[in-house]
Amino acid sequence: MALTDQELISAFQKIVGAEQVITSPVDLEPYLVDWRKRYRGQAIAALRPASTQEVSEIVKLCVTHQIAIVPQGGNTGLCGGATPNPTGRQIVITTKRMNKILAIDTSNQTMTVEAGVILQTLQEEAAKAGRYFPLSLGAEGSCMIGGNLSTNAGGTSVLRYGNARELCLGLEVVLPNGEILNSLRGLRKDNTGYDLRDLFIGAEGSLGIITAAVMKLFPTPVAQWTALVATPSAEGAIELLNRFQAGASAQLTGFEMMSQESLALLKHYYPALASPLAGENPYEVLVEISDYESSEHAMQLMETILEGALESGCASDAIIASNIAQARKFWDMREHVPLAQADDGPNIKHDVSLPISAIPEFVKVCDALLKEKYPNSRIINYGHLGDGNLHYNIAGPSSSETESFFSAHNDDIQALIYIEVERLSGSISAEHGVGQQKVDYLKGHRGEAAFNLMHAIKKAIDPNNLMNPGKVINL
Ligand SMILES: Cc1cc2nc3c(=O)[nH]c(=O)nc-3n(C[C@H](O)[C@H](O)[C@H](O)COP(=O)(O)OP(=O)(O)OC[C@H]3O[C@@H](n4cnc5c(N)ncnc54)[C@H](O)[C@@H]3O)c2cc1C
Repeated sequence: MALTDQELISAFQKIVGAEQVITSPVDLEPYLVDWRKRYRGQAIAALRPASTQEVSEIVKLCVTHQIAIVPQGGNTGLCGGATPNPTGRQIVITTKRMNKILAIDTSNQTMTVEAGVILQTLQEEAAKAGRYFPLSLGAEGSCMIGGNLSTNAGGTSVLRYGNARELCLGLEVVLPNGEILNSLRGLRKDNTGYDLRDLFIGAEGSLGIITAAVMKLFPTPVAQWTALVATPSAEGAIELLNRFQAGASAQLTGFEMMSQESLALLKHYYPALASPLAGENPYEVLVEISDYESSEHAMQLMETILEGALESGCASDAIIASNIAQARKFWDMREHVPLAQADDGPNIKHDVSLPISAIPEFVKVCDALLKEKYPNSRIINYGHLGDGNLHYNIAGPSSSETESFFSAHNDDIQALIYIEVERLSGSISAEHGVGQQKVDYLKGHRGEAAFNLMHAIKKAIDPNNLMNPGKVINL
């Protein structure tokens, strides 16, 4: 016999304690809406387990009573993946209380952490142990490592260190039947059968709940130099990237691009973060070099490459940050572009990746099509250029028109952009994931064979479709 909501809540309370089952509308509210406030749902309750065992017991109870589960970390995802659906028949499991650093092994260069550890805490704890954890993104003060792994987060250091997947050696996962899969091994080599770890990374909670992970650590660079460089075009930005790749190789640890309209938005909402470079440059690029030898060595490298770039014309101006505070300001500029966009109102978001060589054509064609069809639209184009990842976002003519522009043109503009992405063999989701936002695009984008394989995997691991249904793939 089906349990009433109250009976279910009592059963959950027995597992995690009464205070950790959130049901009051005010307390539940933050768990029901996404960061951008584009998706809103309902839930029987939000549960805050403190251990893997508790997560496992909750999942077993949900299987018995066929209640769907939405895993949630920091709730900073940008595709609605952590938001329950509107039926009110789901529960949210937040990893907030599972926030312990379980072990740091400096010889093995690894750190074992629970899923609810905030990314910035992980970076800080690694630094205290004299090591470097490179994953870094604008939401690092609130996103959690379980969420980072579930979205296979990218961020600003992918160029050198890879995305979340490449930084993970082992996982602990509660499967959709409540069983605990323990692969918390800090091994760099392990060829024993299928790679199960990688199935859960980037699965956005649709195959299980990540409860802990072993992450890679790195030696701390002795010096980092950051520069802000003006470039006349997307082609110029790519020539600049190629010059840094050739000259600095693995010492190139950041290469981020911002278009003039991104910089204008930044200046409007965060005047203190206005670009210090003169004039209105079509693009400005933030470059970071890290060095394991000395500060002088890094500076010499930066200066030599920039001199060549200025001579060739792919750079028209440049400032090398003279101290840590100025370097921090350059990074703040880049990290505040999405915040300025959020302040400005809704925009039509595209998180695309392309072969780097195809970026100039993509930008040229899409800019021209948009300017022809929507002459007053604003193209807020910025992103992780070194990874071929653009956040090519389109906003209405002014802040007061963003909502109406979004409602009227979202579907048409998205279709226009995605046609170009497909033509140039790119991806419609470079790092933010599929969530509920792109679930209907998955089949068309990945093709029949890949889609069928993903469908079969989902069905095999989660036959009752209880793990984040309606996200990533529809059964
Ligand atoms: C200002 C800003 C800047 C950003 N910059 C970047 C960026 O540079 N690069 C980038 O990749 N992303 C970026 N993001 C997006 C977001 O921060 C990342 O996707 C992040 O990895 C999400 O982590 P989270 O803990 O907030 O996850 P949530 O938003 O809580 O969840 C995201 C998805 O993972 C699932 N999930 C969460 N925890 C678990 C778990 N333990 N087990 C299983 N599934 C789980 C959820 O169900 C959901 O599908 C940015 C977001 C903001 C707001």
